[in-house]
Amino acid sequence: MMRGLKKSERKHSQELEQKFVKYYKKYPENSLKVLLGFYKGQYHKFLISCFFFMIKHSPALFSSLLIANVINGVLAGGEDAKRAIFFSVGIWLGLLTIHLPANYLYMKYRARVTRQTEAALRGALVRKLQELSIPYHTQVQSGRLQSKIIRDVEAIETLSSQLFMNAMNITLNMVIMIGITAVKNRIILVFFVLVAPIASLTMVAFRKKISKENRDFRVEMENTSARVMEMVEMVPVTRAHALEEVERERMEKQLEETAEKGYRLDMVQSNFGAVGWVVFQVFQALCLGFSGYLALKGKIQVGDITFYQTSFTTVVNQFTALINLLPVLTKGLESVKSVGEVLSCDDVEHNEGKEELTKLSGEYEFRKVCYSYPDSEGEVLKDLSMRVKPGETVAIVGSSGSGKTTMLNMLIGFMLPKEGQILVDGKDISEINLKSYRRFLSVVPQMPLLFTGTLRDNITYGLEGVTEEELQKAVQAANLSEMVAKLPQGLDTMLEEHGANLSGGQRQRIAIARAIIRDPQVILLDEATSALDVISEKEIQEAMQRLQKGRTTFIVAHRLSTVKNADRIAVLSAGKIVEEGNYAELMERKGIFYHMESLQVSLA
Ligand code: ADP
Repeated sequence: MMRGLKKSERKHSQELEQKFVKYYKKYPENSLKVLLGFYKGQYHKFLISCFFFMIKHSPALFSSLLIANVINGVLAGGEDAKRAIFFSVGIWLGLLTIHLPANYLYMKYRARVTRQTEAALRGALVRKLQELSIPYHTQVQSGRLQSKIIRDVEAIETLSSQLFMNAMNITLNMVIMIGITAVKNRIILVFFVLVAPIASLTMVAFRKKISKENRDFRVEMENTSARVMEMVEMVPVTRAHALEEVERERMEKQLEETAEKGYRLDMVQSNFGAVGWVVFQVFQALCLGFSGYLALKGKIQVGDITFYQTSFTTVVNQFTALINLLPVLTKGLESVKSVGEVLSCDDVEHNEGKEELTKLSGEYEFRKVCYSYPDSEGEVLKDLSMRVKPGETVAIVGSSGSGKTTMLNMLIGFMLPKEGQILVDGKDISEINLKSYRRFLSVVPQMPLLFTGTLRDNITYGLEGVTEEELQKAVQAANLSEMVAKLPQGLDTMLEEHGANLSGGQRQRIAIARAIIRDPQVILLDEATSALDVISEKEIQEAMQRLQKGRTTFIVAHRLSTVKNADRIAVLSAGKIVEEGNYAELMERKGIFYHMESLQVSLA
């Protein structure tokens, strides 16, 4: 059984989204601040986790001190030696017993925060994608968005775990080691202190380059993701035209680009790591020489050489760990930016505070409507005016590219007029709550989208409490009864992905059933252009007529039978209505429609 998000989880996700957006808008150029702000209120959990981490690691922290203790004791000989061995081994074993419970608690706290945040962030992205406008979705490829939801959120999770835990752990380790050394011998401390500026210099030298390579790689990965999705969707078309090689080559080019960017990123990260390592090793060698010399002079005990060397190694290792954090940090911060871009995008419908419709009679008026797409020149609809009475059926005809789909999308409220007005029941569409308006609409697209699930689920999509009787009525009205009877499990038959096991005509009738069962006031129908056999065409025509009864209907029409049955035909040309009237009137006028029509008849 699928389980929806619990109320508290949804709330948590919403709060996190708001917090993320707030800090993203406040610090658009500083992703680290966005991340830190995002985790505000949860720091204590990281601190608790860090505390247990320290306990779990305490045997390692104190081991060098214990080893030095044993060596110095043995060198001193006698009772001291025995006591030192017994004491050191005892403490070591004692510390080990708490490793397992401490590890359990450390992971429990850390993973709860980061995993919950990861899920909440994905939830926030999903909700945002549902809010973003249709033009936004048309522009941004779905693969790109998928990459953000999966890959970027994962990078943020990794960064959060690493940043909070490692950074705290590194600091703690260093403080302890440096502290003990400071107490034991200050001269050796000079070596420790010198490491910090050297490490910082190395980081500064590489930071910009790593950041740039990371960005390039992230964008390239998004491109790849988008291309892969497109490629998969295109497979039937590609196969039908025997263009497999062309597709493969195009994809290979993309993959090569990604590999190249990935290679550059790997190289710069690896060079960075190697340079840091060599620099630190040089220091370690010098430190060994120096502590050896001090022991020779009798300034320190022989066993302390091991202690200093080990603690220096620990400090250096911590710096190395810090340095290794840089690539994770850069990648994660880049992802914060990428997620921030989507979460803070304002291209959403604003319904709050607008008038809610409680009923709709289905009266429309286009008043000198103009529309142009954001990324293309010229107007797609120009001064388009039209009045539609409730219950009327309007067939919109026109050549391809004349603006029919745009007009239909504007009726759904996907896009609002750039100039002019669309009035719905006398109210400006830009001033009504579109969600409440759309409850009265049913849309039957040209290529109906079906999802993996039963036929029943596909017809009742999103509706609850549909009775068997209502469903049967819709199935009958949509001329689906015969098809359902032939299916092995009737309405409970599973459809394959996108309804791949159905014919175009069947899919359209399922979409009609989906529309009928909603009992809408207004219907928007984009008629399939594909040719159907005579029986399918007749079945669909009948279903459509039952659907249209008593409701305002807009049909982007491609078939003669549809235009003949319409109350009114609007002929669209280059974004304008150039002729209007019923079939008989337009045929009589012998204008554009007459010529279009005679062309179609002669083709048929
Ligand atoms: P029709 O449905 O009559 O074929 P459309 O409404 O789809 O016409 O398109 C009208 C014009 O708008 C065409 O010139 C098309 O290229 C352009 N157009 C459609 N969708 C977009 C879009 N998302 N971005 C930019 N231009 C678009």
